[in-house]
Amino acid sequence: MPRSRACPACGHDTAGTPPRIEPHYGWTIVDCAGCGRAIQTSRRPAFVDWWRSVRRWRDALIVLVLQLNATCFSIFMIAAASLGLHRSLASYSADPYTLFMLAGTSADPAKGASFLRRVSTWPESGHFPILMSLVGMSGFAGIWIGAMLRHCRPGRAWAVISLLALLATQGVALVRWVFDVSVRPAGAPPWADAFGSGVIAAAASVLVALAIPVGIGAGLVLREGRKLVFQTLVRRARRRRLR
Ligand SMILES: [Zn+2]
Repeated sequence: MPRSRACPACGHDTAGTPPRIEPHYGWTIVDCAGCGRAIQTSRRPAFVDWWRSVRRWRDALIVLVLQLNATCFSIFMIAAASLGLHRSLASYSADPYTLFMLAGTSADPAKGASFLRRVSTWPESGHFPILMSLVGMSGFAGIWIGAMLRHCRPGRAWAVISLLALLATQGVALVRWVFDVSVRPAGAPPWADAFGSGVIAAAASVLVALAIPVGIGAGLVLREGRKLVFQTLVRRARRRRLR
């Protein structure tokens, strides 16, 4: 049953009368059968020309593709940097797995001191840029989430990106294990790769979370800036009209 739609002039119920689209602005209009008055039925205009709707779809699609690209890019860059860092640290026997084994098997302070020495000399290994790229990508992802993905809740976007980065890291660790190109030390169990890379990926997700407030701040500044520009444009247009 159609909703009742009384004519404001004569009270005739125009429900069920198919509306027509007014050609200039695109309002949907019903012509009252009682008094002939044109009644506007929707608050928003329908698309008059299809080109305008194509343009809107095109703009929405461009934004969507850009967001998808930036999200996938940050996920895979975080995963790649985590794996690279793990590989580099493992070649130095200074990766999370070695620390885990050290904590689990011996409380020998000499071994602990030698681990710390290996970690402290690692920056000289020439692989320091990998750490910087991990920090940089995590920061980018956090700022991106804060500034651009606020509409889908920062916490949820963070959880999704962290989970996918972790899954990508674990996927590569699995491939390494299957094809026997592991970086784990001799005698270490098969999960040593997954553990080491997983810890670094988890640390990266903490960096992402820390950068989210920076992104939220940047997004607010951007929005205020856009508002200022828009206000200036409106003021200028008004002045022009008054002249
Ligand atoms: Zn009427």
